[in-house]
Amino acid sequence: MDIPRIFTITESAHRIHNPFTPEKYATLGAVLRMEPGTRVLDLGSGSGEMLCTWARDYGITGLGIDMSPLFTEQAKRRAKELGVSDRVTFMHGNAAGYVASEKVDVAACVGATWIGGGVAGTVGLLAQSLRSGGIILIGEPYWLRLPPTEDIAKGCHARSVSDFLPLAGLLASFGNLGYDVVEMVLADREGWDRYEAAKWLTMRRWLEANPNDDMAGEVRAQLTSEPERYATYTRRYLGWGVFALMAR
Ligand code: SAH
Repeated sequence: MDIPRIFTITESAHRIHNPFTPEKYATLGAVLRMEPGTRVLDLGSGSGEMLCTWARDYGITGLGIDMSPLFTEQAKRRAKELGVSDRVTFMHGNAAGYVASEKVDVAACVGATWIGGGVAGTVGLLAQSLRSGGIILIGEPYWLRLPPTEDIAKGCHARSVSDFLPLAGLLASFGNLGYDVVEMVLADREGWDRYEAAKWLTMRRWLEANPNDDMAGEVRAQLTSEPERYATYTRRYLGWGVFALMAR
């Protein structure tokens, strides 16, 4: 079981597979006012940076599940490196439908809401693992400005304008699901640049090391087109943030 290989090529050197910087994850951990021992579940935990640094900085305990064997391995290595292997566990697997056997204080899905079939489905899935009064974290894109055409939305790697909402609409949608938005930390352009531009050097180095790989043509095409595509579309139109929710 694995995610499409293109992601494990382009994001193999990423610690954070989202437009967030280490500072943004530290801010998010701080504003949530977690106590030592807070139990966190993370569906689509990637290379584990959020849980590992929160275990180190705030004393949380955590379980992360991710479909990529490579990212899960990197997460375990990161936990060892930060000396938090006793507090965080990473499992390789499909998180769709996953419900924790013991309720958690914080249930998160940060940049992988397709796991629950969209934002509403993922909130519903996370809620099943959450203790009463706990916090749900959703990481999700939103439109900084609405794309005037469908082609511009596709340029942002959305299937359609309707894939995402503007920020106010996204916040309102959480209310419509019966949740208060109790905090949010938004990505800035520096975070977007770190996420997107870091792929370019990774792709370049990968191409030099793997010139005859089956994926070489696709990676070459992406490296050629990505900087301009990103500057034209994603960087201008797409925002991203993590939203903290509590049931009303
Ligand atoms: N939250 C992490 C990773 C976000 S990228 C971070 O902030 O760095 C999205 C992640 O979801 C990837 O690591 C990918 O491997 C994982 N993923 C995709 N589909 C999944 C599924 N069905 N179950 C579990 N993980 C999944």
